[in-house]
Amino acid sequence: PLAALDDASLLRTQALINGEWVAGSERFAVVDPATGAQLAEVANLGAGDAEAAIAAAQNAFGPWRSKTAKERAAILMRWSQLLHKHADDLARIMTAEQGKPLAEARGEVVYGASFIDWFAEEGKRVYGETIPTTDNNKRYLVIKQAMGVCAAITPWNFPIAMITRKVAPALAAGCTVVIKPAEATPLSALAVAELAQRAGMPAGVLNVLTADASNSIAIGHVLCESDVVRHLSFTGSTEVGRILMRQCAQTVKKLSLELGGNAPFIVFDDADLDSAVEGAIASKYRNAGQTCVCANRLYVQAGVYEAFLDKLSAKVAALKVGNGFEPGVNVGPLIDEQAMAKVESHVNDALALGARLLSGGKRASELGAQFFEPTLLADVTPQMLCSREETFGPVAPVFKFQTEAEAIALANNTEFGLASYFYSRDIGRIFRVGEALEYGMVGVNTGLIATAEVPFGGVKQSGLGREGAHHGMDDYVEIKYLCLGDI
Ligand code: ADP
Repeated sequence: PLAALDDASLLRTQALINGEWVAGSERFAVVDPATGAQLAEVANLGAGDAEAAIAAAQNAFGPWRSKTAKERAAILMRWSQLLHKHADDLARIMTAEQGKPLAEARGEVVYGASFIDWFAEEGKRVYGETIPTTDNNKRYLVIKQAMGVCAAITPWNFPIAMITRKVAPALAAGCTVVIKPAEATPLSALAVAELAQRAGMPAGVLNVLTADASNSIAIGHVLCESDVVRHLSFTGSTEVGRILMRQCAQTVKKLSLELGGNAPFIVFDDADLDSAVEGAIASKYRNAGQTCVCANRLYVQAGVYEAFLDKLSAKVAALKVGNGFEPGVNVGPLIDEQAMAKVESHVNDALALGARLLSGGKRASELGAQFFEPTLLADVTPQMLCSREETFGPVAPVFKFQTEAEAIALANNTEFGLASYFYSRDIGRIFRVGEALEYGMVGVNTGLIATAEVPFGGVKQSGLGREGAHHGMDDYVEIKYLCLGDI
């Protein structure tokens, strides 16, 4: 699929350190999850390369920080424009290595670019404060300064947007970065880095270390344990987040963590059912269910339970599964066999414990090894695995509930707290439930909540910090208090 790029030089297979493309001594294979075919071999860097990238970022920090925010913004804006200009090619690269339908991939390129635009502007508004004095001989000032060298470890489910959401605020603030993209999707990261080079990003400001799974662990150690790296931003599983947090303890690093979710999606009796069904489809099956804000548990009130299931099962049955390059495909392949096995085990466990199968339920083996049928399960109970763990696949488990208090208790009964959703037309209920859900984000009468202008992030074991919005700058700046005496 990559033979058809308009600009073949976007297909980079070397890593980027200090403005130089680095081949490394080893390589690893990148495969198309739809076909299993090898797409490319990419530089497999290790701990020594990570040290070199950190040193490059450290050297680049002084001059980059000394530029005005407006000068940095000009480079960032050029970068964003190049993402737009090459959106079709970037989408092709993404669909090839990640599997999502081409239209979704193109949407992600635009979404990814929107973080660069937003933070290029926000960088100009990193305001300080003057605090009224309590001593006439003194004046109190607060300024915000770039943290220093930042590291970003990113996942495969949004191969471009998860990079720009971290890197754009860091660069806009005046920090320099070392990125370790997911081993499944390095080509998207390298294409975006190539465009950063073309936009005039100075050497060392943005470095990309590609590596396979085992070298990623070694690089992770170096990034976490370096006392030059002042900040680590990670998006991925809660399990890996805990490991990185432990590794960062020694250097007391500032952390931004966007970890797992277990999103509840509640439909009350007074909901607009068609809208709720549309929201459930968008929230559940987008990216084949592989997003951390995907609805993971659907709770439907008794009065509309069967009616909702009828409407939803018709829509689920109409979803087209297939290669993301085929027109009209809604659900692409899953990322790997491990993902397939998890989805399969959640479905089999639910069926064994008495869930009712309304659609799908098994591998779509006729399409390839990594396709799973969009699945709808009814009469799911809290004992089933899918109610406790994030399925990360195209499976919608539906639970029946009676009262508002019961729905809130069920929804909050998890260690996760990223996204949640509910549907109601009652203004009192909207406030009550919106305030009672222990989540960083609540979608009310919508299944799609993410955009660059809002604070994205979780509570409980879903993470630390917020990305996007003006809040997204906070993690990349240090607050400094200046006390002026002898006035
Ligand atoms: P996912 O479940 O989305 O694959 P992971 O948390 O496994 O998420 O991986 C997300 C990112 O974290 C990837 O870039 C991966 O290479 C990296 N990663 C996984 N384990 C470690 C580790 N022990 N140290 C450093 N990075 C890691």
